[in-house]
Amino acid sequence: MLELRPNCEYCDKDLPPGSTEARICSYECTFCATCVETVLHNVCPNCGGGFAPRPIRPATEWRSGVSRGHQPPSTTRVHLKWDRAELAALIERVRGIEPQAR
Ligand SMILES: [Zn+2]
Ligand SMILES: [Zn+2]
Repeated sequence: MLELRPNCEYCDKDLPPGSTEARICSYECTFCATCVETVLHNVCPNCGGGFAPRPIRPATEWRSGVSRGHQPPSTTRVHLKWDRAELAALIERVRGIEPQAR
């Protein structure tokens, strides 16, 4: 089950569980769509993989015991640990390779 992390690791924007702006990699590194497109160029800074839109978790209990209220999102904010210059170098190395070939 996804943690549904609460913020963009790069710009710290709030990304609530109903957000359509959240993007995740396969490790659930979480960023906003703007950072993925304009800064990261679809390169995860932590693993080098690409991103996909994060699905929303329903607020409504459509099925018994399954909803945002029953499985609440994470409240632990995550912040990028990489130096921004080092990060830019990694992105330059990886961005020209399609994610499925990385
Ligand atoms: Zn961001
Ligand atoms: Zn990642």
